[in-house]
Amino acid sequence: LGERLPVSDTGDEMERLALSLNRMITRLEDALSHNRRFSADVSHELRTPLTIMRGELEQVLLDTEVDSATRVSVFSALDEISRMSKIVESLLAIARLDSGADSINTLPTDVSELCRWTVEQMHLLAEEKNIGLEIETRPLMVMADSSRIKQVMVNLIDNAIKYTTDGGKIIVTTAATGKMASIEIRDTGIGIPPEALPHVFDRFYRVDKVRARISGGTGLGLSIVKAICHAHGGNITVTSKDGEGTTMRVMLPLLLSSPLSTIPAPAEQ
Ligand code: ADP
Repeated sequence: LGERLPVSDTGDEMERLALSLNRMITRLEDALSHNRRFSADVSHELRTPLTIMRGELEQVLLDTEVDSATRVSVFSALDEISRMSKIVESLLAIARLDSGADSINTLPTDVSELCRWTVEQMHLLAEEKNIGLEIETRPLMVMADSSRIKQVMVNLIDNAIKYTTDGGKIIVTTAATGKMASIEIRDTGIGIPPEALPHVFDRFYRVDKVRARISGGTGLGLSIVKAICHAHGGNITVTSKDGEGTTMRVMLPLLLSSPLSTIPAPAEQ
């Protein structure tokens, strides 16, 4: 006690207030860390039974004497198991990132390379929906765990595609703002109503639960994105206009000591 708020030895009201505030903060921290451990343990414990269930059901499918009605039921059960496994894996990933149990392995990385890689991966998905996916980036060096930042980009572009209607447009841009690299994913999609904006990074939050379920959403994608950004010392923010589109902005600390932090874009031919 007395480490967070300076507690002088005067025995007055301020000292008592500081002491009780410190006690409250300690209790809150204990509760939070208990909560994170609990999520990690539960997710971990659910993995094995899910794997066993999947194995058992796959065995049923191998039996040639199983009738077609049973097959349909088994396939549907397998679908639900896949969905649950996805949720369990996501919860485990968030709990481990939040608690610091999962270390991220950062290396000097050009974020625009990661953006370009993701856009290439997602191009077909956007094309199928007749959505234009464009990229305007310039090299920006950050310390990043590239597989994790790729996951951030995949989740954000996947959302942009999911929540943009046919004929829409998505633009990925990068810029240096102060000491941060900013990556923006801007879409001309359905947008997010103002009352929902503060909650989109909360676990299991979905603006429209029915539509999100149909599109395969779990409401955990943005929570993972947020946990990864925080683990990098960065942040994510959202701005949106209902019915007009959404902009997700990822901020990551720039690698300022490197002469490669901001490499000028090649001159246009
Ligand atoms: P989900 O798996 O449901 O997509 P996310 O955590 O990725 O879950 O997103 C949470 C919710 O935020 C979504 O269900 C959706 O309602 C809203 N959302 C996220 N990205 C966008 C976007 N680009 N445009 C409109 N709504 C979005």
